[in-house]
Amino acid sequence: MQLNFSGLRALVTGAGKGIGRDTVKALHASGARVVAVSRTNADLVSLSKECPGIEPVCVDLGDWGATEKALGDVGPVDLLVNNAAVALMRPFLEVTKEDFDRSFSVNLRAVFQVSQIVARGMINRGVPGSIVNVSSMVAHVPFPSLAAYSSTKGAMTTLTKSMALELGPYKIGVNSVNPTVVLTAMGQKVSADPEFSRKLKERHPLKKFAEVEDVVNSILFLLSDRSASTSGSGILVDAGYLAS
Ligand code: NDP
Repeated sequence: MQLNFSGLRALVTGAGKGIGRDTVKALHASGARVVAVSRTNADLVSLSKECPGIEPVCVDLGDWGATEKALGDVGPVDLLVNNAAVALMRPFLEVTKEDFDRSFSVNLRAVFQVSQIVARGMINRGVPGSIVNVSSMVAHVPFPSLAAYSSTKGAMTTLTKSMALELGPYKIGVNSVNPTVVLTAMGQKVSADPEFSRKLKERHPLKKFAEVEDVVNSILFLLSDRSASTSGSGILVDAGYLAS
């Protein structure tokens, strides 16, 4: 599926590594102008070399004031990918207040904040838009030692529907992608135990985890007008796991 985002400006959070980085590359290759938001400047420097012309923004999205300063005047955005997240692994009984606050500020509160900034701009300009929230299959099924992370993704399901409800009248579609394990830095961490990882993979009907490219393809589809009548919904990129 060849998608063309020429003439559109996209903003991708968590652009430095993993799924966010490849999403920036794919959007750039499809003609979009891209604002790439991430926390580690070195990642943005190397990404800018790979994708000339992108607009890097270095900020910790867990910091409300810094995010407002960095993105408050970001300008026109047509496509938003809320991808940045942290997966802090800890058994439920040992989760600290700091774990909880960090998980919710990066994974959920920043989605509220950045989406508000972007959606207000779309509404003021009177243009349609598309927002994709990168969630997880753990929004639907728990994983051990990921209670805080999973809770943020469960809440994201409701947030996605709420945003779709309230932004739909302005022709702004809002959806999520919900992947199984993808072997990025985050995915390697959550599946580090070889026995756990083997059994987990075996439970997937397709006997595999997802590839970064599979997730990026679903993000691009949801951003594009090929999904023009889809909103408040989610695409499982789970190799069949939830059917097992
Ligand atoms: P990675 O950890 O590989 O990359 C995450 C990116 O987000 C990094 O560039 C990171 O920057 C950035 N980021 C994290 N916190 C912040 C912050 N506070 N402010 C700005 N940028 C930040 O993760 P993935 O690519 O694997 O994950 C991307 C998305 O996919 C996440 O929403 C995740 O929950 C979801 N997902 C991932 C799965 C997996 O198995 N990998 C499975 C299901 C869903 P830095 O490294 O500098 O902190």
